[in-house]
Amino acid sequence: MQKNEIYRAAVSGFTSEGLGVCRVEGCAVFVPNAVPGEEYDLRITHVGSHGAYGKIETIITKSPHRVNRLCPYAKQCGGCDFWHIDYEAECEIKAQRVLDALNRLGGQNLSRIELTGAKTCVGYRNKAQFPAAPGKKGPEAGFFRKGTHDLIPMERCLIQPEAADKARDIVIAWARQYCVSAYDETTHTGLLRHIFVRHAAATGELMVCPVVNGESLPREKELVAALRKGLPGLRSVALNVNTRKGNGVMGDKTRILWGADAIEDILCGLRFRISPRSFYQVNRDQAEVLYGKALAAAGLHGTETVLDLYCGTGTITLCLARQAKAVIGVELVEAAIRDAEENARRNGIENARFFCADAGKAAKTLAAEGTRPDVIVVDPPRKGLSADVIDAVKEMSPDRVVYVSCDPATLARDVKLFGEKGYRLQSAEAVDLFPRCSHVESVVLLCRDV
Ligand code: SAH
Repeated sequence: MQKNEIYRAAVSGFTSEGLGVCRVEGCAVFVPNAVPGEEYDLRITHVGSHGAYGKIETIITKSPHRVNRLCPYAKQCGGCDFWHIDYEAECEIKAQRVLDALNRLGGQNLSRIELTGAKTCVGYRNKAQFPAAPGKKGPEAGFFRKGTHDLIPMERCLIQPEAADKARDIVIAWARQYCVSAYDETTHTGLLRHIFVRHAAATGELMVCPVVNGESLPREKELVAALRKGLPGLRSVALNVNTRKGNGVMGDKTRILWGADAIEDILCGLRFRISPRSFYQVNRDQAEVLYGKALAAAGLHGTETVLDLYCGTGTITLCLARQAKAVIGVELVEAAIRDAEENARRNGIENARFFCADAGKAAKTLAAEGTRPDVIVVDPPRKGLSADVIDAVKEMSPDRVVYVSCDPATLARDVKLFGEKGYRLQSAEAVDLFPRCSHVESVVLLCRDV
């Protein structure tokens, strides 16, 4: 295969980043803006050791699922992947990815995966992190161009609620008015790095948190006044300090400039406190669907002891608690555990205990102490479970393991490992929490062989 040459190929699959996969002379070519079922003349733009990249030169067979992009920034913006495809085909791509992973990497023989799509693709995200950078007219904020750190200033990000865009615009207008500088990555100078906004979909509460390369901002009072005037749902203005180099968005220190230190949302009928740094699923409505599926898979009758590993602020744990005798939540981040305990208190839940620890270490300790949960729920980050977690889970020998996953590939790898420990896949389904983006969540139930 030669760079700059043109080859004819059809789309045979999609990568986890949302690129189409076409086969040319037996090699994978990754193609942006591909649609299932289409055939192209591709121009090869790069040939590397892990595959080649190609650009659509001509669409030979056009799919009826190709649509005009509703988002004017979609072609350049690194945020979303699927604005050029209708939602039905997007859901199909995601279900297929989970199916392929479980069959190919997980050693399963499933014929299909049920995916629950979202009711809306617009305004669903409850967390925005707009990077800021110096522009011609002063600071600007938006999103980065795909694969770069070039800023695309934007007026409206369609997957965010309008309030998030408004919050960003207010901060930028304030920064321009008072000559507050934006952060420049190349020189590590300037103040305003990111504008972080959180929105609680059920209560309408809003938190705005500028992330700055310094301990404070000039004209903090004026910023608070402008935000309060422009944002009716505003409950909290915080300032996060991040003076480190690199891509990490949030620093370790947060100071409240105005209002509460957290906002509150309602999820599965429970009230949750969301502080700036704690994990909270970005799509509230679909998180309810996901948790509902996890709960159904747990199959509780009120007599069980349940262990919830990677519990974050206790969202799944507290849903489980209502249907179990006792639940134990384990989470690495201390602030999240404090939130989880507070969440249990404010919802009057008394049968939940939380531990701040590494999931693997905690599971080992609990196993050694003779804790024998009936059900274990895991919801790890993308890298999945480490071998010691799987070993400790096996040692506790629960009847059921419910695995909530945000990465089909690591899920499939772990399903295979659980299989070697005597846990068989009983059911698997997917839920779309990230419309227009390539991520997908899955819930699988593993049952112990008798
Ligand atoms: N179940 C929660 C959180 C899921 S996100 C929810 O749905 O809201 C995954 C969580 O795992 C994060 O809160 C992260 O802080 C935590 N985590 C990451 N590595 C961990 C580890 N080694 N041990 C325990 N928790 C960990």
